[in-house]
Amino acid sequence: MAEPAPLIDTFGRRITYLRLSVTDRCDLRCTYCMPERMQFLPRKDILSLEECYDLARGFMERGVRKIRLTGGEPLVRRDVTDLVRALGRHVGAELDEVTLTTNATQLADKAQLLADGGVRRINISLDTLDRETFQRLSRRDALAQVLGGIAAAKAAGLKVKLNTVAMKGVNDAEIPDIVAWAHGEGHDVTLIETMPLGEVDENRVDHYLPLAAVEDRLAERFTLTPSSHTTGGPSRYFEVAETGGRIGLITPLSNNFCAGCNRIRVTATGQLFPCLGGGERVDLRAALRSDDPQTRLADALDTAMAIKPERHDFRIGEGEAPTLDRHMSVTGG
Ligand code: SAM
Ligand code: SF4
Repeated sequence: MAEPAPLIDTFGRRITYLRLSVTDRCDLRCTYCMPERMQFLPRKDILSLEECYDLARGFMERGVRKIRLTGGEPLVRRDVTDLVRALGRHVGAELDEVTLTTNATQLADKAQLLADGGVRRINISLDTLDRETFQRLSRRDALAQVLGGIAAAKAAGLKVKLNTVAMKGVNDAEIPDIVAWAHGEGHDVTLIETMPLGEVDENRVDHYLPLAAVEDRLAERFTLTPSSHTTGGPSRYFEVAETGGRIGLITPLSNNFCAGCNRIRVTATGQLFPCLGGGERVDLRAALRSDDPQTRLADALDTAMAIKPERHDFRIGEGEAPTLDRHMSVTGG
């Protein structure tokens, strides 16, 4: 039988990286991510972990080499470590890496299980080191839990990268301290601009901060040297002389990064979104639950390649394109 074709879109970009959301639910309510009274997807529509694994296998067969489990908060999904372990068995063969993005609230209990399951690196979201700011931002008093989770990840030997959303008037003054702390702990940091995904209880424009402003602030305290480091993703990197650590900047709004995009996203209900910032979608759950899942899935992935747009159309500001009606917690961060 002929080898299945790799996933290549109409712009010649090869897709090798899958972000798979295992739940849209979360134990925090970050104000930039979701409203306090978030409407979650009906549980009956969510893929089982076995279906998630089957999907992942389908992607591996088409050349996907890296899988990131995300959400919502992936660690609130019961038994998600079973899925991690199942995927981890493919690392070193079909897969280069299995990883997660997490808020770390549950990591104290799960870090070792993840490491044992084949995870080597993990992304953890941390927007502040101040308890009150954390409580205001996430609407939960969970900073101590999160810091415990980060410590557990380090103790389990996981390489930690921190993700920090930069917000004007919220954490901008604190970012150099976050960088110093993170690098002191041996963790890299990536700073992210707020993206207009899903309605929230606030106006994102109020806190939107282009990262060029953060770069200037960091340069007042640190010597930053542009780095040739690349992960094939959207970050630009800088080495920080004083700490020996690295900072990544993801600037979807102020500096579009789509040309080298190698990723696609699948929601917890099996909807494939070829672009985080576009409305295009393909229903993989219907394919998976059909009489001929293999053929239907292969066709669905071909459709996804045909409709992956060249670039996202994020804009933020008064009079700009409206916010997409999907929250980041649905598409998977
Ligand atoms: N709950 C996990 C977490 O927070 O790490 C994983 C899912 S979360 C949606 C993934 C990432 O998306 C987090 O780093 C979060 O800060 C970021 N995020 C959420 N909403 C965002 C938005 N509107 N703009 C930019 N980043 C956002
Ligand atoms: Fe939850 Fe992550 Fe969204 Fe915060 S950013 S509400 S932790 S999904």
